[in-house]
Amino acid sequence: MGMKDLLRSILIEPGAKCRLSEYDPEDISLCSSKEAAQEDIAKDITRLAKLQEMLYAEDRRSVLIILQAMDAGGKDGTIKHVMSGLNPQGCEVTSFKVPSAEEADHDFLWRIHKAVPRRGNIGIFNRSHYEDVLVVRVHNLVPREVWKERYDQINRFEKLLSEMSVVILKFFLHISKEEQRKRFQERLKDPSKNWKFSELDLKERELWEDYQAAYEDALSKCSTEWAPWYVIPANHKWYRNWSVARTIVDTLESLKLSFPVARTDLSKIQIK
Ligand code: AMP
Ligand code: MG
Repeated sequence: MGMKDLLRSILIEPGAKCRLSEYDPEDISLCSSKEAAQEDIAKDITRLAKLQEMLYAEDRRSVLIILQAMDAGGKDGTIKHVMSGLNPQGCEVTSFKVPSAEEADHDFLWRIHKAVPRRGNIGIFNRSHYEDVLVVRVHNLVPREVWKERYDQINRFEKLLSEMSVVILKFFLHISKEEQRKRFQERLKDPSKNWKFSELDLKERELWEDYQAAYEDALSKCSTEWAPWYVIPANHKWYRNWSVARTIVDTLESLKLSFPVARTDLSKIQIK
């Protein structure tokens, strides 16, 4: 299966209305087997390391990868696996939590802007400014008139970044409610996973439908030419990792990165 088929199945076309019920979280249709996927992933991780090196050497653009998901959707796992080949120098991961008092005293994009990867770097957001139209909307943390303006504000902010040579990719890791149940159960059962469980997660789970609706709006209103949203079928971790890795590598390949050519004739330089 080619990249075109994958993109067709996961990309939210700018301007299109996203209905999550039309995306099957169980989907594994574009991969012949788990083994084949794992081979592709290994190749992509190696390729990604090379591309990162060129991005760093070129020092002109940066790449911002945004991960959003319901609890237990696999944000941490995706970062751990797909980004495992990256050079830590040149890569920054930022996890966005409940805003601190200082952050809450600023506009919602303030803390986000500060975390945008510098030229030459890859930045990964574990949650993002989209929380400000997700958890904030579902829990009425600000009035409707405030959050409904944010879709446009986000689009304009991301446009600014893209004009400043930040390449943006946004992944929604799409799991089913049943898969979340299984993963929570696993967190309760496995002592090494207990720490990941919070009783608050169960409260959020009760709001599943509200979150799905909020996600549909964010994905519909904020998938743009300059910052596309991808819906990743994420019930199967290997398919999730495969789709995310393929998409990142394909995007970086399309940048036509190359190592900078020396400005002087290096062959004339003698090291004494
Ligand atoms: P975790 O990712 O499990 O460490 O949880 C982080 C928590 O911070 C989640 O419950 C998010 O919904 C919450 N969070 C992140 N950003 C915001 C925000 N802008 N406003 C309110 N809560 C947020
Ligand atoms: Mg959590």
